[in-house]
Amino acid sequence: MLIKRPPEPGQLALPLPGLDELEESPRIARADRVFVNRNLQLTGIDWVGFDMDYTLVIYRQGTLDALQIQHTVERLVARGWPPLLRTLSFDVGFGIRGLLVDKRHGHVLKMNRYKVVTVGYHGTRRLSQGELEELYHSRRIRPHTSRYHWLDTLFALSEVSTYVGVIDALEARGESVDFERLWRDIRTSIDDAHRDGSIHEAILAEPARYIERDPLLAVTLHKLRSAGKRLFLLTNSPYSFTDGALGSVLDRALPEYPSWRHYFDAIVVGASKPHWFQEGSPLLEHDGEVLRHLRGRLERGKIYEGGSLTDFERLLALTGSNVLYVGDHVYGDMLRSKKESSWRTAMIIPELGQELAAHHACQPQLSRLRQLEELRERFEDELRFLQARFKEYGRQPDASGKAEQLRIKKLLEQVRGRLRANAREESELKQEVDRRFHPWWGSLLKDHNERSSFGLQVDTYADVYTRRVSCLLGYSPQQSFRSPQDLMPHEL
Ligand SMILES: [Mg+2]
Repeated sequence: MLIKRPPEPGQLALPLPGLDELEESPRIARADRVFVNRNLQLTGIDWVGFDMDYTLVIYRQGTLDALQIQHTVERLVARGWPPLLRTLSFDVGFGIRGLLVDKRHGHVLKMNRYKVVTVGYHGTRRLSQGELEELYHSRRIRPHTSRYHWLDTLFALSEVSTYVGVIDALEARGESVDFERLWRDIRTSIDDAHRDGSIHEAILAEPARYIERDPLLAVTLHKLRSAGKRLFLLTNSPYSFTDGALGSVLDRALPEYPSWRHYFDAIVVGASKPHWFQEGSPLLEHDGEVLRHLRGRLERGKIYEGGSLTDFERLLALTGSNVLYVGDHVYGDMLRSKKESSWRTAMIIPELGQELAAHHACQPQLSRLRQLEELRERFEDELRFLQARFKEYGRQPDASGKAEQLRIKKLLEQVRGRLRANAREESELKQEVDRRFHPWWGSLLKDHNERSSFGLQVDTYADVYTRRVSCLLGYSPQQSFRSPQDLMPHEL
């Protein structure tokens, strides 16, 4: 007789018999997973809302940065900056999200979760530890004051590339630079280029050059709809651009959907987030070329503009926690929706693929770093023990006490030498790991063992996060996303 026993505690029931004969792994590849900060059950979600830029529409960062820099430089020269700027080559890979620009000193900084500056550059010259300590470690940094500017969107990476490139070039010519004015002029120039439609026009003229078409996006949206979820679009982009950009990634993708508009039950453009989550503006309805105030209900197939969270929830009878909002922007999409509503949040982090690849490639170094940490603790214990013994023998004035002290002194020197070697190896390995993540800044989300300030925001405001919207395709629309156990240091 065959008796099936339940697995013993601690014994995994997997793999199932025959599972290893399957050609594909039952596990979703790490790069395509949804990572969970707070439990989220998709069964309780009736509406899934999407931001557009860098969420549904993924831009090719290098080419878009180059376009934005070109428009910025032209406008800087028109504002009186030297024409020499047109001849410079800018490093489009310089910036990452979460950096802080110190406009007073012309520095660009990365902070850890405690707002301590850990890396900084002036132009592309790395600031020494001494410079960082002198300027930023003796008093608390206030990132929201006018002295600083926080880079929270992928659109802003070109601004910091332009900033450091111009500072390098002008200082190399011996010119003194007005750092505040330079930053202000860069911001105004790129804002103008967006506002007057120059950037949008260039993107729509060659969408394949600037926009990556994700072949799984349409089927992901379709799967959510087929499971009974209703979808909405909530974007700050104007209708003309939304129409072209979403058309380039969704039109003709599936025969059931004649155009991108057919995927959504409600469409709001020109939303002005984060303002939209607070007081907002009157909700307008596109009627052909004309915009008029909304009359009655929101209708599927129509285009709306502006409005506010309160209007939107009332018109669609949303209860808040039955909404999952998917966006890429920490402040405009994640933070405001978390603070002003009870919407659940999924953050799209396009950089996550690179972060995961670097994390995987650095496993040997990361494992050695953990070993070195353990060794350091052991050496420090030995040091404390030997120091106490040294003092004890010091209280014995006879020859044997002196001889013991001499022996312990030699041991102490050995342990100190090992600690120094340990620290050297640790520092070299950390630099190696940093370079693998990002040549200038290291990891986007981490600062070695701690979260970076950006990583902390992801942790605080995103219930789940993933690389792109189509990563949801691997999961059931009834998925229960569960967060890992949140251990405190004393539980480790
Ligand atoms: Mg966006």
